[in-house]
Amino acid sequence: MASQHVETPAQPPESFDADAASTAYRSALHVIAAVEPGIAAAIRSELADQRATLKLIASENYASPAVLLTMGTWLSDKYAEGTIGRRMYAGCQNIDTVEQIAADHARALFAAPHAYVQPHSGIDANLVAFWAILAHRVEAPALASLGAGHVNDLTDEDWEALRQQLGNQRALGMSLDAGGHLTHGFRPNISGKMFHQASYGTDPRTELLDYGALRAQAREFRPLILIAGYSAYPRKINFAVMREIADEVGATLMVDMAHFAGLVAGRVFTGDFDPVPFAHVTTTTTHKSLRGPRGGVVLCQPEYADAVDRGCPLVLGGPLGHVIAAKAVALAEARQPSFRQYAQQVADNATALATGLLSRGARLVTGGTENHLVLLDVSPFGLTGRQAESALLDSGIVTNRNAIPRDPNGAWYTSGVRLGTPALTSRGFDTDDLDRVAELIVGVLSATSPAAAPSGGASKARYLIADGVAERTRAAAGELLAHHPLYPGLDLG
Ligand code: PLP
Repeated sequence: MASQHVETPAQPPESFDADAASTAYRSALHVIAAVEPGIAAAIRSELADQRATLKLIASENYASPAVLLTMGTWLSDKYAEGTIGRRMYAGCQNIDTVEQIAADHARALFAAPHAYVQPHSGIDANLVAFWAILAHRVEAPALASLGAGHVNDLTDEDWEALRQQLGNQRALGMSLDAGGHLTHGFRPNISGKMFHQASYGTDPRTELLDYGALRAQAREFRPLILIAGYSAYPRKINFAVMREIADEVGATLMVDMAHFAGLVAGRVFTGDFDPVPFAHVTTTTTHKSLRGPRGGVVLCQPEYADAVDRGCPLVLGGPLGHVIAAKAVALAEARQPSFRQYAQQVADNATALATGLLSRGARLVTGGTENHLVLLDVSPFGLTGRQAESALLDSGIVTNRNAIPRDPNGAWYTSGVRLGTPALTSRGFDTDDLDRVAELIVGVLSATSPAAAPSGGASKARYLIADGVAERTRAAAGELLAHHPLYPGLDLG
C-alpha cells in the first residue's frame, strides 16, 4: 500500500528525559514496595503488558511521564470544595493556582468562553452539564415564576413543583447501537432516569447519521437537550447542522466530544466539525485522544457558566487537585505544535487501518472512517464480537467488542470490534504500520472459528484459533512494537 507517512515528530510521551523519569519511577516503586509490594509489582506488570501488546482500544492512550508524575503528588491531600477563589476550606491557594492554569489552557486550546476542569470523569462531566442545563433552562425560570430569588426561599411545595418539572424533561441522543454513549439518556445511567429520552439512529442503508430524519424527529419530540457525540461512530458530525436543529426546536445543544477531543484540539476537526463554537455546552474526557489523565472537562457559553461552576458540591465530590494539575500539564502539551501533527497522524492512521482492512475483504460499519476509530463487523468471519475480541487478545492485539447498528447479537456478545489509533500513534506508529496491523487482524479472524457450546450448538463466546496463528501473530506484533518502544529509555531497574 502507498505510504502516506509523514515524519512523526518527537512528542510526548516519546520526548521526555528518560534518565530523569527512570530515576523518578525507580524511587517511587522503591517507596511503594516498602509498604505494599503487591501494588509495586502490579505497576511494573502493567507497564510490561502495555509495552508488549498492540493497544487498539479507541478510548485509551499513553499519557506522558510529566502527566503521570503530576498525579503522584500532595496536591491530592487538599480539600477544595467550591470553585477558584470561593472554597469551603481554608488554604486552597495552590489548588486555586492549579485550577486556574488548567482552565486557562482548556479555554485557549478549544477557544471556549468558559471551562470547568473539576469533573472526575466523562460521566461526571455529563452529569454536571445536565444539571447546569436544567438549572439554566428550568430551575431559574421556575424560581422566577414561583416568586423566589434563591433556592433557599423555596417551600416544600415549591420543591415538589420543581421536581415535577425537572423529572419531565426530554433528551434526544444517539442510540447505543449507532455509537452513542450510556450517559446520553440510557437507563443504566442516571441520565436515563432524569430524562424522558428518545434516541436517533443512523440510516439503515449507509449507516450514516441522517440529519433530515433527525430534524423531523426533533420537531416531533421537542427535546430540552439535543445531545451529539459518540463512543463508536466512525464519522465526523456536522455541528453547524446540529445547532440549527437545536435552535429550530428550542433545545440546548450539548456535545460530548470525549472520544474526539484530541482531533478538535489538534485542529483535525475544524469549521462545522469543531463542536465548541456551536454547542451551548461541550463535555469531554481528558484521557482518550486528548492523552491526559483520567478526568473530565465541561466547556460552555457564558450564560451556562454559573450553573456549570456549581458542579461541586451539587454532583461532584471534592476536586482532585493532583488530577486537575495533570490536566493542566496535558492541556499544555496539547497546545504544542507537535500535538497537531500527532492528531493528524491519528486520523491518517485510522484511514490506513480502514483501507488495510477493506482491501483484505473486511466489512466496516459506514464503509470507512473519518476520525480515530474503525468499527469492524466480524459477522462475515462467522464470529461474535466476543469471540473476535478474545482471539485477538490471545494474539497480542487488545481491542474491545462493540455492538454494530441493529446488532443481532445484542450489547453483550455483539457483532463488532472497535479499533482506535490514538495509543499506537503515541508510540510512533505510521500508516505502513497500521496496514500491517490490519493484515494481522484479518489473519487472526480468518483463522478463528466458533467452538461448540458445552450444551451443544455454536457458542457465542467459545472459539478455536488454528494452530500456531496466535503465536505467530504475537511474534509479528512484537516486531512492530520493538520498532516503536513505549516510553523509550524508561528503565524501572
Ligand atoms: N462520554 C463518552 C462519549 C464516552 O465514550 C465515555 C467513555 O467511554 C464517557 C463519556 C465516560 O467517560 P468516563 O469513563 O471517564 O466516565
